[in-house]
Amino acid sequence: MKYILVTGGVISGIGKGIIASSVGTILKACGLHVTAIKIDPYINIDAGTFSPYEHVVPHITDAIQEWVMKQAKVSVDDDDVEPQVCIIELGGTVGDIESMPFIEAFRQFQFKVKRENFCNIHVSLIPQPHTTGEQKTKPTQSSVRELRGLGLTPDLIMCRCSTPLETSVKEKISMFCHVEPSQVICVQDVSSIYRVPLLLEDQGVVNYFCKRLNLPIELRPRKML
Ligand code: ADP
Repeated sequence: MKYILVTGGVISGIGKGIIASSVGTILKACGLHVTAIKIDPYINIDAGTFSPYEHVVPHITDAIQEWVMKQAKVSVDDDDVEPQVCIIELGGTVGDIESMPFIEAFRQFQFKVKRENFCNIHVSLIPQPHTTGEQKTKPTQSSVRELRGLGLTPDLIMCRCSTPLETSVKEKISMFCHVEPSQVICVQDVSSIYRVPLLLEDQGVVNYFCKRLNLPIELRPRKML
């Protein structure tokens, strides 16, 4: 099983859901069986009815990992085949107090399932204030630093922006977020969200996953999608 974790930085409602489903769409178009999990990080524990001999935290990260592995295996296609890829969207923003147990669970999870089976897409925002018209990278730098500080490394940084990323901005993100320019993906505002899978495909996202996760797909030209 290959796991792709989608995290978000800077603001909520940044487009993680659209990116998670678009990645699923392009991998399905390559003939893979793909499933998806959406995590909304809320935990409700009633301490009053809790045994004083039990403590939550180590158990909760284990429980999250076990639940993810179990859910990932559930077939979602008509043919009852076990999925090969599971895309996990972690709701909220990295650094939110309520998502911490989930981030820690995935930090541990990446070692449990091994590097070739786990990768992270971090969705971030590139604001472009009208006053200067410049695309600003600082919020992305800060959110990637926060993600790394929590033990997760972005494989792809997907930048939400109002207009396509300038080359110099892409290079700056690459330099300061410690990734290759090819790992910086531009996801600008588009007139229809159905264009997002093509936008990702155009920037080599399938090729990247194919190599990074050793996916059993033959690389095909874009028009086959
Ligand atoms: P999140 O999962 O981070 O909360 P969503 O994926 O639900 O965010 O997206 C939030 C809103 O932004 C939705 O209305 C979605 O249609 C819109 N949206 C996301 N990506 C784009 C895009 N590239 N261009 C235009 N609208 C987008």
